[in-house]
Parts: sequence; C-alpha cells; structure tokens
Amino acid sequence: MTAYDTDNIFAKILRGEIPSHRVYEDEATIAFMDVMPQADGHVLVVPKAPSRNLLDADPATLAGLIQVVQTIAQAAQEAFEADGISIMQFNEAAGGQSVFHLHFHVIPRHEGRPLKP
Ligand code: ADP
Repeated sequence: MTAYDTDNIFAKILRGEIPSHRVYEDEATIAFMDVMPQADGHVLVVPKAPSRNLLDADPATLAGLIQVVQTIAQAAQEAFEADGISIMQFNEAAGGQSVFHLHFHVIPRHEGRPLKP
C-alpha cells in the first residue's frame, strides 16, 4: 500500500487551505459538495483521519463514517426527492480513485436520469 500523501486535495480542504461547500461536520467527519457533480446533490463524505482509502482505514473511523454516509443519504433523498441513492467508493487508480484520501460519494438518483460522465 502506498503511503498517505498529505498534499492530496481533500487533506487541503480539511486543513482549510482550499475552499469547499461543507454540508456537514462533526469531530471525525466532514461532508461537502463535489465540484464536478455526477448528479444534483452529489456529496463527498470524508473522514478527518488520514486514510488513503478503504484498505488502510481503521475500523473505528469506518464505523463512524458509514453512519454519516447514512445520515447524508437520508437528507439527500428528502432534499432532492430522490427515487434512489448511489453510494460509490473507489480504491487506488486501478479501482477508479483519483483523490487519495478515503471518501464515499453520495449521489441522489432519479428514474430515467443517468449519471453525468
Ligand atoms: P473519481 O474522480 O474517478 O470519481 P474519486 O472517487 O477519487 O474518483 O473521486 C474524487 C472526487 O473528488 C471527484 O468526484 C471530483 O469531482 C471530486 N473533487 C476533486 N476536487 C474537488 C474539490 N476541490 N472539491 C470538491 N470535490 C472535488
């Protein structure tokens, strides 16, 4: 496993070095709007702990994180009157990951409306 890189863009967001549109924060987690949303209401849920991805995350971080994912999914379903919610999570470049700080995508979905590329 490659080491965690503190220069990744979500680490910079966590340190307040670059702006984000935050929709949730607690002692262990933040959630903010994706800058290139694949659908309206696309949110990223990010632990404050420095995990590269799911594979090196500690169980306590994951336990708290998935509860926030559920909270954001419930809020997104109500706010966007979604027919469904996609939760996506990628690991390493070969797995589709482009920002190397653990995160979950929460994406409201509507019947007949594909994700934007
Ligand atoms: P992918 O880019 O293939 O979706 P990831 O799961 O690593 O892989 O997702 C990174 C996400 O971070 C992308 O959806 C991208 O739009 C988003 N993103 C990149 N930079 C920022 C930023 N500064 N603020 C908010 N979201 C960002």
